[in-house]
Amino acid sequence: MTTLLDGKALAQTMRGALKEEVAAFTARHGRPPGLAVVLVGHDPASQVYVGSKVKQTEEVGMRSIEHRLAADTGEAALLALVDRLNADPEVDGILVQLPLPVQIDADKVLNRIDPAKDVDGFHPVNAGKLAIGAPGLVPCTPLGSVALAKLAQPDLSGLHAVVIGRSNIVGKPVAQLLLQENCTVTIAHSRTRDLAGLCRTADLLVAAIGRPLFVTANFIKPGAIVIDVGINRLADADGKGKLVGDVDFAAAAPLASAITPVPGGVGPMTIAFLLSNTLRAGRLRAA
Ligand code: NAD
Repeated sequence: MTTLLDGKALAQTMRGALKEEVAAFTARHGRPPGLAVVLVGHDPASQVYVGSKVKQTEEVGMRSIEHRLAADTGEAALLALVDRLNADPEVDGILVQLPLPVQIDADKVLNRIDPAKDVDGFHPVNAGKLAIGAPGLVPCTPLGSVALAKLAQPDLSGLHAVVIGRSNIVGKPVAQLLLQENCTVTIAHSRTRDLAGLCRTADLLVAAIGRPLFVTANFIKPGAIVIDVGINRLADADGKGKLVGDVDFAAAAPLASAITPVPGGVGPMTIAFLLSNTLRAGRLRAA
């Protein structure tokens, strides 16, 4: 029997608990936690993500502060907005939606966000804290991925975890979190030799590659926990495009002990942890 790791349901449970904690924060501090979301330009996927983030922020009782800027906004103007949000006492979290237009250096903007308000956890100060195991703000998708793995098996200690992907926003922080869970962690990437053979040694396999249906049955050790972070759009017959993960779910699921679907797995968990990071940032700032 394979367990379906339902991120949609777990995220909903998290939001229910957050709603109560947000109400307590608001009663105590006389204002709700505030999340500022900055979107530059009209990227269709980014518009959908920002729309969901704003809606869910408000649903849990937090204040959403939206800044939608024109596609030709200059770097200096965006940096000035980040400075204003850093200085605003009612803003607890700042999220600048990526990708940014070419005229803006994304690293420069992300590095300008006050680490105490960096709810995406991308600032080098927070990345460094994660690396040394100090408390800080941790990226949301990795938190969601590990929460789903722990839904399958609460104690991950001693498992061999293979993470495919070494990006700063997913692969590396997932690996750091799994190390904190006492897994033995291998990070695989595009230059890894015999990737399928390596993955077949994984008790826990995390795919964060960005290639549709890349992980097939011969990557899966029987009984493994499989976490699919990938979100890829495949053209389909009606021309709308279908969302698929990095894992070929139909091939992998019969072998796995537990697996995340796409959509409905890691995706919804990412937003739930964005909200939880915002509340956490608010509490730390208010303390
Ligand atoms: P990225 O392009 O920055 O990194 C991809 C990684 O995959 C690289 O480190 C690369 O070494 C590795 N890779 C590429 N080709 C490979 C190959 N043939 N064999 C082995 N490794 C290979 O991507 P990212 O930002 O880390 O995102 C990865 C995926 O996760 C994407 O599909 C993205 O859409 C998705 N994602 C989902 C969420 C979510 O909320 N669920 C959030 C962020 C990213």
